[in-house]
Amino acid sequence: MKLSKIEELQEDYDVIIAGGGLGGLTAANILGANGHRVLLAEQHFQLGGLATWFKRKGHVFDVALHGFPIGMKKTLRKYWSKELAEHIVQVKSIRYDNPQFSVDSDFTETDFTNILVNQFEQPREHVQAFYKELAEMNFYDDRSMSNRELFDKYFPGRNDIVRLLMEPITYANGSTLDEPAITYGIVFSNFMSKGVYTFLGGTDLMINMMEAELLKNNVDVIRSATFEKVIVENGKVAGAVINGRKVKTKTVLSNGNLLKTIHDWTGDENFSGDFMNKVNAVRLNNSSCQVYMGLKKGESFDYIGDLLFTSTKAEFDPAAIVSRDVTSRTYSVYYPEIRPGSDDYTVVASMNADYKDWAEMPEAEYKQAKQRLIDDTIAHLDKYIPGIADKIDYVEAATPRTFERYTLHHGGASFGTKFEGLEVSMELPGEIGGLFHTGSVGIIMSGWLGAANYGAITANNVDKYLFSN
Ligand SMILES: Cc1cc2nc3c(=O)[nH]c(=O)nc-3n(C[C@H](O)[C@H](O)[C@H](O)COP(=O)(O)OP(=O)(O)OC[C@H]3O[C@@H](n4cnc5c(N)ncnc54)[C@H](O)[C@@H]3O)c2cc1C
Repeated sequence: MKLSKIEELQEDYDVIIAGGGLGGLTAANILGANGHRVLLAEQHFQLGGLATWFKRKGHVFDVALHGFPIGMKKTLRKYWSKELAEHIVQVKSIRYDNPQFSVDSDFTETDFTNILVNQFEQPREHVQAFYKELAEMNFYDDRSMSNRELFDKYFPGRNDIVRLLMEPITYANGSTLDEPAITYGIVFSNFMSKGVYTFLGGTDLMINMMEAELLKNNVDVIRSATFEKVIVENGKVAGAVINGRKVKTKTVLSNGNLLKTIHDWTGDENFSGDFMNKVNAVRLNNSSCQVYMGLKKGESFDYIGDLLFTSTKAEFDPAAIVSRDVTSRTYSVYYPEIRPGSDDYTVVASMNADYKDWAEMPEAEYKQAKQRLIDDTIAHLDKYIPGIADKIDYVEAATPRTFERYTLHHGGASFGTKFEGLEVSMELPGEIGGLFHTGSVGIIMSGWLGAANYGAITANNVDKYLFSN
């Protein structure tokens, strides 16, 4: 049921899900379909979490719909509906443009292999061996090899090839050359082997269709409802506090930030010392900046690709990608076809960002910095869409502060935590009976596909817990 006020909540639930991101939504749908009494409480007035959109001046802006792997089709069909899965379509062209090379690809293994052989002059067997090693990687294998070592093994001294293979992954989840190659390998194999896909109709349609499914599966959904506390009694979840109201529940599934779930909602005193040592070692992932641009009615531009990874930096450098001194931008270009029947053109520029560069800025300086972000982006985009400044009638920017405000995630983290967060997230129920977490942790469980799949995995664990209790 769609609830409009906190007073409408039932006295108790089998499971309360805190947060309506793709992880929380997917878990709610599965648990509702399995017959559990589920409450999904979302603090924002809109569901979706980072998979969100907003409307301004007649434009619809997608925040995180740049693309995802084909696996999303199976995930939607399995945990949502056939109708949702049928909206998945492949994007046509992804471009790179930087001082080292310009490349146009459909992000399939065949195309990448040909590019590496023909443009980057690598022996074909060598490229095939690289792909084979990635395909055979397993998360439970040895994690000692770093991305840097992986690239040194196959493409020593070739920063340009590292850029080709790594830059989109760094954009997509903040990974660096020092992280375990296994995390890169799994994401690369998902993402850069069978093409990149999108949701026809846009994020708004997808989330609205998901909400309709939740209601069909008897999930109680409430928005503008902030989850505040997990009530723990005798080492088990006994209830929760939402907007100041106590509600009984056997399980809480947090879709909020992992560290917030532990420190703020549950309290460190409820966990063992060994577990807290692991928690204290978990690093947050980086945040983002974006510039949203909408074209005046009747204006258009020629097809320039769907996704453009651009950089003015001479060489690939993951640290430069988060710098406030922006050199790298990813443009997502939305043509009217994405929302059939619409004539709207929008472009979203995304930059990875470091929260601390923005957090403490005084208000006047913050405004100026946002304006600079906008002005520099429009000037840069002119190279790809000549005359863009005169074509747009709406422009706005988001910073790590915006992401923090709308998701309540510590540090405005766009991609949850680094890979060590996954173990902590999975061990939560071992510490407190009935306490679960889903959502971006590590690289594998992040992004639309990773978050939705992790939601399904956790729903299964909640289901088992409820059954045995
Ligand atoms: C700029 C940007 C671009 C991206 N582009 C892509 C892309 O192209 N492809 C892709 O696959 N992925 C992309 N991602 C990543 C992807 O969107 C996320 O990894 C994924 O959506 C995260 O889902 P999640 O389940 O972890 O939850 P989140 O989306 O983080 O949602 C968590 C939810 O919990 C809610 N919440 C938090 N605290 C509370 C509370 N106290 N009470 C109630 N509710 C609470 C929040 O409001 C939010 O709705 C992008 C991310 C960003 C930031």
